[in-house]
Amino acid sequence: MQAAPKKDRVNSSHQTFILSSDNYYGQEANKNFMSPTWFKKFVACEAEALAELRGEWAPDEDKTALLVGNDLHSYFESSEAHERFLDANKEVMLSSRGKTKGQLKSEYKQADIMIDSLKNDKTFTQLYQGEKESIVTGVISGVKWMGKLDCLNLDRGYFIDLKTTQELSKRFWDSRSHRWVPFVLKYDYQLQMAVYRELVKQQYGIECEPYIVAVTKQSPPDKAVITIPHEYMEDALQRIDEQLPHFEDVIAGVQAPVPCGNCAYCREHKQLENIISVDDLLDS
Ligand SMILES: [Zn+2]
Repeated sequence: MQAAPKKDRVNSSHQTFILSSDNYYGQEANKNFMSPTWFKKFVACEAEALAELRGEWAPDEDKTALLVGNDLHSYFESSEAHERFLDANKEVMLSSRGKTKGQLKSEYKQADIMIDSLKNDKTFTQLYQGEKESIVTGVISGVKWMGKLDCLNLDRGYFIDLKTTQELSKRFWDSRSHRWVPFVLKYDYQLQMAVYRELVKQQYGIECEPYIVAVTKQSPPDKAVITIPHEYMEDALQRIDEQLPHFEDVIAGVQAPVPCGNCAYCREHKQLENIISVDDLLDS
């Protein structure tokens, strides 16, 4: 498969592809726009990300975690969206054997409890008002980007992203900053929020405050409304500015992708080359 020509992704007025909620998660959208998800894939491993973008590789995803997240998101989008979601996924979500046949599998019962925890919360219901699944586009570091906001409230100047996580205070080792970090920084959600904030500003001329509403998979679930210090978002935009030109060259086929050496894609394509020291085995 040929790489997408570079000119399609840079800031140009000619519009050949119209982004919509129907094609947002499709290959064409990914070929025309950068997004926080894809930028983070390129940061993690350029070789794997390029192969996936070209449709030559499909990473193993935790489908259950994905469905739990979609269950929650579609519930708070609208009752029609939630019904569509349940209808499309009932075969995998319902138990097909034994005493529990016909009932929701335990992970999806837990998803219902997470939904209840938010929908019965007064602060959340007051806060989660605005346009749901709002698509925004703009240009960052000379490249077209897209974003989809869970809830955008332009009148009150904020947007919300819903996240499910294991525990609010769980620590993750971050090899980039060599320290323990919370889940928000581990998954670089500050980068996603920084991009969304910039796209909203370009599209509507309003500087919005991002909030992450996190709900945990604990029983009973914990929850929090989380803000992100602006310097974290500025740092994220700075990283984009530094790394994006190379990623765009990789996508255009001008430069070779740098393999991370550790991911499933790299392991599958690995050839022994160098002999390494025992001191090289651990993340520094
Ligand atoms: Zn890799």
